[in-house]
Amino acid sequence: MYDALITGAGAVGLATAIRLQERQPDWSILVVDKADRVAAHQTGHNSGVIHSGVYYPPGGTRARLCREGYDLLLDFCEAENVPFRLTGKFIVATNEQELPGLKKIHERGIANGLAGLQWMTGTEMRAQSPHTGGIAALWVPQAGIVDYKAVTRAYAEVFTRSGGVLQLNTEVLGYQREGESFEVQTSKGEIRTRYLINCGGLQSDLLTTMNGRKPPVQILPFRGEYYELTSEAAAKVQHLIYPVPDPAFPFLGVHLTPTIDGRVEAGPNAVLAFAREGYDNRTVNLRELAATVRYSGFRAMARQYWRKGATELRRSFSKQAFLKSLLPLMPTLTLDDLRPGGAGVRAMAVGPKGEMIDDFLFYTEDGLVNVGNAPSPAATASLAIGGAVVRELEKGGMKECGIRE
Ligand SMILES: Cc1cc2nc3c(=O)[nH]c(=O)nc-3n(C[C@H](O)[C@H](O)[C@H](O)COP(=O)(O)OP(=O)(O)OC[C@H]3O[C@@H](n4cnc5c(N)ncnc54)[C@H](O)[C@@H]3O)c2cc1C
Repeated sequence: MYDALITGAGAVGLATAIRLQERQPDWSILVVDKADRVAAHQTGHNSGVIHSGVYYPPGGTRARLCREGYDLLLDFCEAENVPFRLTGKFIVATNEQELPGLKKIHERGIANGLAGLQWMTGTEMRAQSPHTGGIAALWVPQAGIVDYKAVTRAYAEVFTRSGGVLQLNTEVLGYQREGESFEVQTSKGEIRTRYLINCGGLQSDLLTTMNGRKPPVQILPFRGEYYELTSEAAAKVQHLIYPVPDPAFPFLGVHLTPTIDGRVEAGPNAVLAFAREGYDNRTVNLRELAATVRYSGFRAMARQYWRKGATELRRSFSKQAFLKSLLPLMPTLTLDDLRPGGAGVRAMAVGPKGEMIDDFLFYTEDGLVNVGNAPSPAATASLAIGGAVVRELEKGGMKECGIRE
């Protein structure tokens, strides 16, 4: 019998484990993951950006947890010797139409309390980043880079060092409340726990349904594919270089990202994946694909955004199309500068009418918290999200499954 069981050894699950351990040092806490390593899915396949919180509507959960998580993450990396670098970020307007969007981001950044934001003309920006295109830019000095696999391995190290138990290769198959505790069925047998927290990322809606609840959203998997710049082209990129995002979509657009090990990635795009853990377009899970296509939210979204979807798909199959979307950011790039890179799959929470939910969601019942949606910047914000989950658990009280924030 454990005091708490946490499903998922991604950044959110292990950060939650650490925050719970801080609050309840005497508890026995178990983290399980079906994978054979930590950070096997979203956390280990992301852009590695430490988000500053510049984009998010002031006062919202994402802005609050990103700002809080940013400070906690930097303190953690310093304490545990996880390398990170505050490279700074240029968000670049490449034409007149993008200027209002960039101004709005600037206002949000100020309202969210960011330090050192600077509006620059194209010429001023090029004095710092000579190869970057565009007519104006917002300089965000607080943005940075880190390897979230290394961060999550360090979370696991801190957790187990303080007495926590991490059990990999263990899939949660079901769970029920039995009196004062939960019986959890796993691929390694039954486990009893007083409290249960599910941080299942791409599987978060499925984990919620396991005890008969219907979450208000379904997770649709969207693959983000990257190219990598050759070392000559990579030398042109010293900072994060981002476009002004399309406000209709929760994704930030393809960007140029230096990595902590000295490479530069370009991407990610956003195409529907044919499996929740489908890292290339040959991986198909017919059961999961059928569940996606049958879902009213997917059909509504497809009707509304088929044009955007077609553009993303073209970019997935055509290197030329991918390059075309990078050229406004860096006009001197050529096809020869791009090598195929990795891919990640985002858990996109979609409501029944096709609403794309970009804020964090928790579904809380007595003794149980399901993290229903933890999109970007959840890796940056993971320690703050962990704190919020612990508060949810402490609030207790039986609540109907539904959107709480
Ligand atoms: C392409 C891409 C780029 C991104 N870029 C950034 C970025 O630059 N900065 C940033 O802050 N965020 C970024 N994000 C978002 C961020 O990576 C995620 O929001 C975050 O990693 C979510 O963490 P998680 O722990 O909730 O999910 P995951 O990392 O997906 O972890 C969930 C874990 O649960 C396990 N699991 C699921 N079901 C079960 C089960 N039944 N039994 C046992 N285990 C189970 C899985 O194996 C998995 O390990 C990006 C995401 C993607 C996909």
